[in-house]
Amino acid sequence: MTSTAPDRLAVARAAYNDVPLYDPKRTPVKLDLTDNTNLWGVPPRAEQEIREFAAATITRYPTLYGTELKAALAAHAGVTADMVVTGCGSDDVLDSAMRAFGNEGDLVAAPDPTFAMVPIFAKMNVLRSTLITELPDHEVDAEALLATGAKVIYVCSPNNPTGALVARRTLETLIDRAPGVVLIDEAYTEFAGVSNVDLLARAPRVLLIRTLSKAFGLAGLRIGYALGQPQLVAEVEKSRGPYKVNALAERVAVAALRHDVQWVEEHIQLAVQNRDRLTIELLKLGLDPIPSSANFVCVPVRNAVAVAMAMREKGVGVRPFPNLPRIGDCLRISVGPWPMVEQGVTALAAAIKKVGTK
Ligand code: PMP
Repeated sequence: MTSTAPDRLAVARAAYNDVPLYDPKRTPVKLDLTDNTNLWGVPPRAEQEIREFAAATITRYPTLYGTELKAALAAHAGVTADMVVTGCGSDDVLDSAMRAFGNEGDLVAAPDPTFAMVPIFAKMNVLRSTLITELPDHEVDAEALLATGAKVIYVCSPNNPTGALVARRTLETLIDRAPGVVLIDEAYTEFAGVSNVDLLARAPRVLLIRTLSKAFGLAGLRIGYALGQPQLVAEVEKSRGPYKVNALAERVAVAALRHDVQWVEEHIQLAVQNRDRLTIELLKLGLDPIPSSANFVCVPVRNAVAVAMAMREKGVGVRPFPNLPRIGDCLRISVGPWPMVEQGVTALAAAIKKVGTK
C-alpha cells in the first residue's frame, strides 16, 4: 500500500484521510505468479465471443442490472435469479454490500490475515473495522468475531492469503448467531471442491460472494456476483447502482457460463494437481507450506520481501506478505501450468540461497 499525501485537498472527504490507493506492487514481470488468476488463459467460447462482439452494441447502454447474466449465474450455482446480484468484480460486490448494510460508524469484523481490501472497503464506506487474529492451524475464531457485535462479519473461504478453508461448523456458528450480515468471500471456492450454497436456505442474512476472475479466467472483464436471499440481494443491488457490468463483459460471461464450464472444470483439476505438486516441492526445499484449498500456496519464508525481490530479478513475481499474525513473513505463489510453477520453485530456491533466511 502507498501512504497518502499529508497535504490533502481541504475539500476532500475527511474519512478518506488514510485510505491508500491499492498497490500490490505488481510491476510487469516475465512470469507473474502474484494474482491467482487463470494462468492457462481465457476459456475458448469466451474468447470467440470477444472476437465476434458487435462494435455497434457498444453505442448502447448495457442491461441495468445484468438480467441475462444473473439468469446464467443462477443456473450455474443452482439458485433462482432473484438470489443473484452482480458487480464490477467481486470487489464491487463487497464494497456495495458494506454500503448496503453498514450505517456510518458501524463495525466490520474480519479474521486476520485475510483479503487486504476489507478494511479499506470499510473505510471507503465510513465504517470502522476490526481484525481478529486467527486461531492456531489457520482456523477462524468465530467466538471472537461474534463477540465484536459487528454489523458486518466478513470471512474468506478459502482464505486469501493462507489458502485455508473455513470449517463448515465455523460458518454455521457465524450465520446462526451473527447480529448483522455475514459476507462469505468465495473468490477461490471452485478450487476447494465444497459448496456452501445450501447454507442460503437457512440463512436470511448471509451472502456468498464470488467472481469470474479466478477459475473462469475473466479477471480483465471484471465480473463478480453474490448469492443470497432475494431481499438481501435487492439491498446490495440498490447500493451497487445500475449499469455496473459492461455489455461486452456480460455477453462473454454468459457465453462462458453456458459453454465453457467443462473447460473451466478441467483447468480447476489441473490447478488442484499442480497446487499439491507445488506443496510437495516446497516441502522438499525444507519449507513448511500451509495446506491450501485455493489456486495458490502460502509458504512462510523469512525475509519474504527480500526473497520476492530476488525472485523478481530472475523474472518471477510472487506476492510477499511481511509479518502476518501467527505466520510471520510468507510468500503467496499462484498455481498455473507446471512449467511455470517449476520456474517459480527454481527461482525461489535460488532466492533463498542468495538472501539467506536467518
Ligand atoms: N476476494 C478475494 C479473496 C480476492 O483475492 C480477490 C482478488 N484478489 C477479490 C475478492 C476481488 O476479485 P475480483 O474483483 O476480481 O472479483
